[in-house]
Amino acid sequence: MKTILPSKFGPYGGQFVPETLIPALMELEKAFVDSEADPVFQAEFNGLLASFVGRPTPITFAERLSNQLGGARIYLKREDLCHTGAHKINNALGQALLAKRMGKHRVVAETGAGQHGVASATVSALLGLECVVYMGEVDIARQHPNVSRMELLGATVVPVTSGTRTLKDSINEAIRDWVTNVGTTHYLLGSALGPHPYPTIVRRYQSVIGTEARQQFTQMTGKKPEKLVACVGGGSNSIGIFSGFLDDPDVEIFGVEAGGLGIESGKHAARFGDPSKGRIGVIHGTKTYVLQNEDGQIEDTHSVSAGLDYAAIGPEHAMLRDSERVHYTNITDEEALQAFSTLCRLEGILPALESSHAVAYAMKLAPKMGKDETILVNLSGRGDKDLDTILSIQAGQQ
Ligand SMILES: *Cc1c(COP(=O)(O)O)cnc(C)c1O
Repeated sequence: MKTILPSKFGPYGGQFVPETLIPALMELEKAFVDSEADPVFQAEFNGLLASFVGRPTPITFAERLSNQLGGARIYLKREDLCHTGAHKINNALGQALLAKRMGKHRVVAETGAGQHGVASATVSALLGLECVVYMGEVDIARQHPNVSRMELLGATVVPVTSGTRTLKDSINEAIRDWVTNVGTTHYLLGSALGPHPYPTIVRRYQSVIGTEARQQFTQMTGKKPEKLVACVGGGSNSIGIFSGFLDDPDVEIFGVEAGGLGIESGKHAARFGDPSKGRIGVIHGTKTYVLQNEDGQIEDTHSVSAGLDYAAIGPEHAMLRDSERVHYTNITDEEALQAFSTLCRLEGILPALESSHAVAYAMKLAPKMGKDETILVNLSGRGDKDLDTILSIQAGQQ
């Protein structure tokens, strides 16, 4: 299929979708390319990022944490301070504006923990779009406050009862709805995944993190960070911040997957970290690394953080891993929970459990580095949404 922009990242990515969706993907790509060249669209997007999302988000020097570790100085890019508490709204806002540009008055979205659902419901309320969010029954039970938030914002939450009743089934349902209602509906996909042009669009809307961070960091410290760390679920917050530094060969970049209960346990979401299960496959319209069994069936994943708990990783990350430009590693539930507590006590910040994986890895790196060196961590979201999880784990340990 002829696309305007490159549809692949090396051998990964592409458009593995039913024929009926190709016109919609072409329409989306064209609208995106046109909007990138349209100063009116860009002014509206940038204006709302400032006045509604609260950008630019600051960079905070984690001084007490750095002192305690006794090595490199750790800095945090504060996406937790975005409206709705995480980076996801950057992409949701961009895509909602695109939906309007295409004359579509309805968006459908998938959600696991509910964060992308809340971001989608929020921007839909702002822009007057009808919003339908598909969410697995299991996730609805686990993440009830976010269901209420979406409903208060005027969205319809549709319980998904097929399969494992979690995120991957919700994506299937959202795609099914989109196929049926493609004339009026935009599929507002929440991470750097899915068929082309989604990974490219999501990267572009999240690249604001990297663009800001590069400028802010050099202004604050007079140089670039020696190391850059972000957590990788589908891969959107990470590709957003990485994009600002990929052309700086002196910045070493790390993506952190969910190690769950440890790779050996089999209960994790480390697509790159477990070569026995993480292999190239096709899922939700894209070719990438997927956790699967011998027969190519998608494996169940586990992470204490819902946002990292997905069997596939965005296709651009697969390419960055092959080229070794980015190093991928993983952090266990336990290490993430420890990093969560440490950041709370030492810095007065409650990080999301997803972001705690990145903090935990930075805490491993810092003591081995010099005091004149620096690490920049993308703090992708705030931890308020995780309090129930954390409190019930703490209660269980007592
Ligand atoms: C959803 C989420 C993630 C994981 O998604 P990516 O697309 O990999 O960024 C990470 N952190 C937070 C706070 C999230 O809500």
